Amino acid sequence: MELRELAELGVAIGAEEAERLGSMTDMILEWNKVINVTAIRDRQEFIDKNVIDSLLLADLPEFQAADRILDMGTGGGFPGLPLACVFPDKQFVLVDAVGKKLRVVSDTAEKLGLSNVTVVHARAEDLGRDKAYREAFPLVTSRAVANMSTLCEYCLPFVKKGGYFAAFKTEDSADEIAGASRALSILGGETERTVPDGIEGSGHIFVVVKKTGNCPQKYPRKAGLPSKEPL
Ligand code: SAH
Repeated sequence: MELRELAELGVAIGAEEAERLGSMTDMILEWNKVINVTAIRDRQEFIDKNVIDSLLLADLPEFQAADRILDMGTGGGFPGLPLACVFPDKQFVLVDAVGKKLRVVSDTAEKLGLSNVTVVHARAEDLGRDKAYREAFPLVTSRAVANMSTLCEYCLPFVKKGGYFAAFKTEDSADEIAGASRALSILGGETERTVPDGIEGSGHIFVVVKKTGNCPQKYPRKAGLPSKEPL
């Protein structure tokens, strides 16, 4: 799929945004020769699996309503960076525990002149206790970072009460999603719905969780525990 075909997916993208996404693609692929941020080296495959896949989040009303979005475990900038290219009026906080990948993200954001991107080098478990970030976001998202239960402990502490967490998951994640129900209720979340993304063959769905309560102070637990001993 070409970037200009995105409009057909319901993602409103003008020529300027498509060009910015194209430049972003070139910059990341160039960086990728030096620092491994993605296994995908082919440009078209990169556009399909990283750029367009990321932009599918924009279909959710929860995304459209949010002015500030945190992307946990952004790696080489997905889904946060493509979204920031297309939605300059929304603020994006891109978090990852690995600093070298974030160098690629911040360098790319800077070269593209994106003033709506903030990059934070931290582990979810530590940043989730920081008052400046805790329960401060109307929407938190995450792609390919951890199983749903662990992911809820990484992400729900950042969501404002009444806000949402939207996880990129695969179509075969039903057991994983069901297995996170305890984690959800402990952390103040409630599964709203799962949303097929509408792209044939992409295999991705969104799991949308609403933050209906507050997250107890003891969560997130100390670094490593959410993945070692999922709730
Ligand atoms: N979201 C990106 C990257 C997925 S790879 C994409 O879809 O392409 C998973 C990323 O999550 C890695 O970059 C890893 O450093 C990060 N990560 C894993 N556990 C984390 C944690 N506890 N806190 C912050 N980042 C974490």
